[in-house]
Amino acid sequence: MTRVVLHDAALADGTSDSLRTGISLAIEDGQISWIRPNDAADTTGAEVVDAGGATIVPAMVDCHSHLTMQGGSHWIARGDDPPGVLRQVARDNAKRLAQAGILWARDVGAPMHDGVPLSVGVREELKGKPGAPYIRVAGTWIGKTGYPAMWVTVDGPKLKEAAIAQLDLGTDLVKLYMDAPGGVKDSPFEVAHVRAAVQAVHARGARVAAHSGYLAGARVAAEAGVDSIEHGMELDDDICATMKRNGVTLVSTLSVFASWETFARTTTIDRFTAAEGRERIAKRKEGAYASIAAARRAGVVIATGSDFGGGSVRAGHLAWEVELLVDAGLEPHEALASATRNGGALYGVEHAGHLDEGQPADLVLVHGDPLSDPRALWRVWAVYQRGVRVA
Ligand SMILES: [Zn+2]
Repeated sequence: MTRVVLHDAALADGTSDSLRTGISLAIEDGQISWIRPNDAADTTGAEVVDAGGATIVPAMVDCHSHLTMQGGSHWIARGDDPPGVLRQVARDNAKRLAQAGILWARDVGAPMHDGVPLSVGVREELKGKPGAPYIRVAGTWIGKTGYPAMWVTVDGPKLKEAAIAQLDLGTDLVKLYMDAPGGVKDSPFEVAHVRAAVQAVHARGARVAAHSGYLAGARVAAEAGVDSIEHGMELDDDICATMKRNGVTLVSTLSVFASWETFARTTTIDRFTAAEGRERIAKRKEGAYASIAAARRAGVVIATGSDFGGGSVRAGHLAWEVELLVDAGLEPHEALASATRNGGALYGVEHAGHLDEGQPADLVLVHGDPLSDPRALWRVWAVYQRGVRVA
């Protein structure tokens, strides 16, 4: 049995605002066997990795991703690419995630092929592969009647049946779309119908992720006790209090706006470049930042999502979200917790996003101090997955 000791590193796991320095961490049998000060570290017979100047952080969790899609300014059109192309995009994205230190991803929406969400096959193909992230998938989007054919579309009374049908296809969670079709800002479903779906999904041991862009849908989702509100671009104090009471996590996706802002310079697409479009984006962005502040005030758990693929962001850029959460008012250690332990709790694996002795060694070494500079999370030097160095 080989023991690897990461020697003389710093350590940050999102539980404290102070960086631990002079730390050694030992990996044996794929697990963290101990974390100790250097002078208490026994390196006899071990392979010693000089981790001087690096910070050990837990591998990150991207709670909102779309593995089969590639992002960019034509992200919606790319969802119509042939299934073989989408499967290859997923392989490439998975590789990119692991290289960036993101070892858990929730896929919250994938196109269907032959009646099965492509994400299910992606998960099966990547399962247990070193250098590929652990993946849980939601299947395809369930929205109110009126959305495109690539989705499952229903009216409220059929919502529960549609949710269970996704689980029957082999998904781990269910994605509800809590915006109404046609830009209408009313909630597409009523509380009783969403609650019935949530209870049925929970009875199967699965979870419900609810997309929400507007107040009314968010209010219904929070009252119905979904597991997470995704984006939450419009939340008020009332809704956040309900989220807190019902244990609803907010999955932030602020990098979507930052990405659109870059398109004002890098594309010729009107909705990004014209003054009117930019104003609209700025307004929605302001709402999303205010929602983060309201959630934090209310003590709502915040987890990070990049929305890569199903939004315009590219895979592996979750560090952007951590940076933006700090801009939105979180302390750097809180933002790190969002990208690690909070995401892990929502993902539903106990050690996900943690650094604990006796638990799998899924960890990342970055150059710099993420507690004073969240951009350090971009500077990934090494990634260990179950104790094996994969990047
Ligand atoms: Zn999305």
